[in-house]
Amino acid sequence: MPAAARKTPARPNPARELVFGSLWEYDPAPETADPRLKRRYDLFINGRFVPPRKGRYLPSINPATEARLAEIAQADASDVDAACKAAHKAFTQVWSRMPGQERGKYLYRIARLLQDHARELAVAETLDGGKPIKESRDFDVPMAAAHFFYHAGWADKLEHLASGRSLAPHGVVGQVIPWNFPLLMLAWKIAPALAAGNCVVLKPAETTSITALKFGEICQEAGLPDGVVNIVSGAGETGAAVVRHPLVSKVAFTGSTEVGRLILRSLADTEKKLTLELGGKAANIVFEDAPLDQAVEGVVNGIFFNQGHVCCAGSRLLVQEGVADEVFARLKRRIAVLRVGDPLDKNTDLGAIHSAEQLDKINELVKSGVEEGAVKHDNGCRLPAKGWFFRPTLFTGVSMSHRIAREEIFGPVLSILTFRTLEEAVEKANNTRYGLSAGVWTDKGSRILKMSTLLKAGVVWANTYHKFDPTSPFGGFKESGFGREGGKQGLLDYLKVA
Ligand code: NAP
Ligand code: MG
Repeated sequence: MPAAARKTPARPNPARELVFGSLWEYDPAPETADPRLKRRYDLFINGRFVPPRKGRYLPSINPATEARLAEIAQADASDVDAACKAAHKAFTQVWSRMPGQERGKYLYRIARLLQDHARELAVAETLDGGKPIKESRDFDVPMAAAHFFYHAGWADKLEHLASGRSLAPHGVVGQVIPWNFPLLMLAWKIAPALAAGNCVVLKPAETTSITALKFGEICQEAGLPDGVVNIVSGAGETGAAVVRHPLVSKVAFTGSTEVGRLILRSLADTEKKLTLELGGKAANIVFEDAPLDQAVEGVVNGIFFNQGHVCCAGSRLLVQEGVADEVFARLKRRIAVLRVGDPLDKNTDLGAIHSAEQLDKINELVKSGVEEGAVKHDNGCRLPAKGWFFRPTLFTGVSMSHRIAREEIFGPVLSILTFRTLEEAVEKANNTRYGLSAGVWTDKGSRILKMSTLLKAGVVWANTYHKFDPTSPFGGFKESGFGREGGKQGLLDYLKVA
């Protein structure tokens, strides 16, 4: 029993009832660090914060309370043009002439500053995006710093990436990122770009720009030369202006397959290099011989991490028939104790759904699952009265033709299917337009190796899930995109190889 547990006469959340009996509940444990938010955030161009030329701002909302957090500048094409020109000037006059060793020092400095500001960044990320503080504190922010530390080490060793070949940076890189891991996706993009000697114009997602603009403050604190990093917040048109800008010679995009397709089309008549990190519908495959406790934890982490707003979420559970009932029973017990609520509470497992639109999309797909004949199970917990929340949900009786088995839900919803043989598992796992990630749970090493070659997915986790490391390349097959981020392969995508 945690020290903070106390008796409460109120009707408890069923999640708590199961564990402590109907009278017990946790005390709130809010994270109290000051996120040091400004009332208004301007664009970060050429080392300075500047208002958008047309003077347009949009609010950034806290999805857990629907409260307005700050006003975010909306860049138009002329602001994007100024940012690209600043980046180009910084590239030709400063960054491309600087020895790798010196560039590396800036990356180290940024990494250390991310650590220094870790609590402030974690709280800002949680307020703006709705993810639980334990995730932004223990995953997003430390991983963002880790990416800068890792790439700092490469900055003066690039010649070892492809021996005998000549390597050169692209110049100005245009980057567009989504809202599910705002600071981490920024780090995945900016750290390798800078290590490789490029300068950057980055557009964060419209709804989660605060930590990206705080990152601008960190660039200033690190003394990064003006124009090496530029952050242009705004909506989809701002992103389109970044990727189409003539000074941008490489584009890196993370987001939906639909927008990825638009970008691919819009760049088809240009020389620009492009990498796309898009959606996913991963299979998490549990064989009969798997250590079931461990597998169930991995399945829960695979789908409920960040409310399921994860491109590589294990959103389809494929479980071998002999253990299907047992695994389902354990999953039901496990989700019964997941805590949904205030993202700033350190005990929260599932925070807020990122936006009202995303909640509508989840509701629509869940409704289609019920209508198509699958059986829905959720943990029945009480949801906060304000904000956007969704209960952890399992679907049984799912068949491959159901929309919930085919489409990316991007929410805390797991579709459970069964299989008899390894071949059937592989067939079902690969029967998707996506190919980003997969998980395999089995006691047998040779089966892991066989599965990892048969599964058409960029990442295959074995007896674990959602393990990330800057040294390890990440990326997709098929409609999950192309190109890699992380590791040597990711860095090579930021270089011209001749
Ligand atoms: P999204 O709608 O595609 O948006 C991604 C980014 O693109 C946002 O910054 C968005 O701006 C911008 N954008 C929109 N239209 C654009 C256009 N025509 N040209 C250029 N940029 C444009 O995706 P999302 O809903 O934010 O993110 C969820 C999706 O991202 C999911 O499908 C998920 O699987 C995928 N994702 C993939 C990975 C990966 O590594 N493979 C990682 C994370 C997420 P606004 O914010 O203003 O819309
Ligand atoms: Mg927000």
